[in-house]
Order: sequence, then C-alpha cells, then structure tokens
Amino acid sequence: MKVVALAGGVGAARFLRGLVRVVEPADVTVVVNTGDDLVLHGLHISPDLDTVTYTLGGGVHPEQGWGRAGDTLTVAAELRDRYGAPDWFTLGDRDLATHLVRTRILAEGGTLSRATAVIAGAWELAPTLLPMTDDPVTTRVRTADGRDLHFQRWWVGEGAEPAVAEVVVAGAAEATPAPGVLEAVGAADVVVLCPSNPVVSIGPILAVPGLRRAVAARPVVGVSPIVGGRDVRGMADRLLPAIGCEVSADAVAGLYADLLDGWVVDRRDAGLADAVAALGCRVATTESIMTTPQVAASLARTALELVAGPRRARAC
Ligand code: GDP
Ligand code: CA
Repeated sequence: MKVVALAGGVGAARFLRGLVRVVEPADVTVVVNTGDDLVLHGLHISPDLDTVTYTLGGGVHPEQGWGRAGDTLTVAAELRDRYGAPDWFTLGDRDLATHLVRTRILAEGGTLSRATAVIAGAWELAPTLLPMTDDPVTTRVRTADGRDLHFQRWWVGEGAEPAVAEVVVAGAAEATPAPGVLEAVGAADVVVLCPSNPVVSIGPILAVPGLRRAVAARPVVGVSPIVGGRDVRGMADRLLPAIGCEVSADAVAGLYADLLDGWVVDRRDAGLADAVAALGCRVATTESIMTTPQVAASLARTALELVAGPRRARAC
C-alpha cells in the first residue's frame, strides 16, 4: 500500500514512527512543511524536516521530541558569550552539522529537495522525505499588538505569548510543489494528514498551489491533533482561533471537510463522533496519545483501516 503523509514536526514524527511499523517503510512518502524554515547565523534551518528525519532515524532527543539526542551546546555558548549572537533558537552541536550540510548544498546551487535527500540518505531512512516546495515560503504571525513576526520568532522566541491577529503563509501562492510531490500524491492509495498543527503545519502544505486538489482526488484520512479540546504538545490552541476555528477535534475536521474520507479522534472525544460523521466522514475512535511507538502503530493501523478497501463516494 502506497501512503503519502502530510507532516509538520513533533506530532507528525511520532505518528510516522508508528506508520512505518504497519506499512512497508519504502512505500511511504512524507511531504513536510517548510513554512517554519529560517536562516540563523547564515544557516538554513528546516525544523520540521529535521524533526521527522531525526525521529525516523532514531536520533531524536527523546524527551524534547526535536533536536538531537545527547547534544551539547558548545557552539551556541561561544556564539552567545563571545560574539553576542542571539540565542533564542536552540542549536545543538550535532544539530548544526545538519544545517551546515543543507546550507552548503544550497550555496552550491542545489535545491532543498536535494539537500533533504542527502540528509535522509545519511540517516538511512527507508521512507522518501520531500519538502512541500523548494521555493521560499515563510509562515508569519501578525500579532494583536501590530507586529509581523516569523512564526519561529513568535513560537520559540516569544513563547507563543503575543495574541495572534492573523497567520500569513508568505510566498505560498507563488510556490510550486517540490519535484515528486504531485507524482507521489497521485500514486497514493491513501493520503494521511498526520496529527500536526492545522494552521502552521498542514495548512501551509495544502496552500502550495495544486496540492489541495491533488490530495482531494485520493482517499484521505486524518488524525486529530486536538484531544479533549486541547492541544497535546504544541500551541495549536493559540492559533486555531486566529483562523476562526474552535479548538476541538470536530472543528479541525471541518477545516479539511473537502478532503476527508475518514477522521480519527481520541477515545476521550468519542462524544464528537456524530458531529464528525455529520461532515460525511467515517470516524474512528481510539487511543491517540502517542506515548510509545506501539500506540502510534496502533493509531496508524486504525487510520489506514478506516479508508482502506473499496472506495466510497466522498460525501464531505
Ligand atoms: P511541530 O511542527 O513540532 O509543532 O509539530 P506538528 O505540527 O507535527 O505537531 C503539533 C501538533 O501535534 C499539536 O497540535 C499537538 O496537539 C499534536 N500532537 C502532538 N503529540 C500528539 C499525540 O500524541 N497525539 C495526538 N493526537 N496529537 C499530538
Ligand atoms: Ca513546525
């Protein structure tokens, strides 16, 4: 079964660790959000690509869910203490090696796709990792106090504190999908929307022209990132209201109503099953807090089984 997964960072990576246990890993293509990418110290950093790579490669920091396991901060300390460089974004020493490789490939005229393939190859990943686009796309947060911040500046630098007036995915309308993205979606037996932030992870991917329509043509299943009316790990609850969406598993399904054949909600949200079904989707209810890879695998199996089998007419 060929599966394409649309992915952000930590929520997606945890889910993908389960997905590759229930389908042939080489049959999985992961299309990753690049709206969070930023340049710091002259280095091109792709937080979501790195989180997925380190997690699938077995090198992620286990508690954080991002960054490298056992990393040190020697370079970051020298940058801060000797050179007075900003240190609001943590860059571990091992992590920096990834950013150096990516930045060198880009400086030599290579694409982000090329850099992603080289890095995934070094981690011996069986799934194919694709950035959503090779073009510059940047998620920006317009705050209620009138500032226009890079998403990471708002999220990491300011702890997601400033109230959000608007989220803008700058450059998305002019971007083209990265090589292989539309082909992979077109060949997919199932497209999975990982339990990622709908506003700043899945939203930017679907905003790349052509992608939403390509996904809509395939069987699609999503896993809710909202459990019990709250974000599990992250700050989607700060962002959903800015796009006029309630913080609930059924309201998030509504954002994808034109795409979904199935939607998986946590067992704590069993009471929302009828509301999701009213969108015309199949609904599954299961444990979705991914405390172990085994839970993630069971969740992935539930998601695939919801839409596998004979194609039904899409009603939502
Ligand atoms: P980020 O780019 O690192 O913020 O990661 P994502 O966009 O992929 O994931 C953030 C979302 O993942 C948040 O909205 C969380 O609620 C969701 N999430 C994280 N862990 C879990 C989990 O164990 N279960 C579910 N259902 N959602 C999760
Ligand atoms: Ca992210």
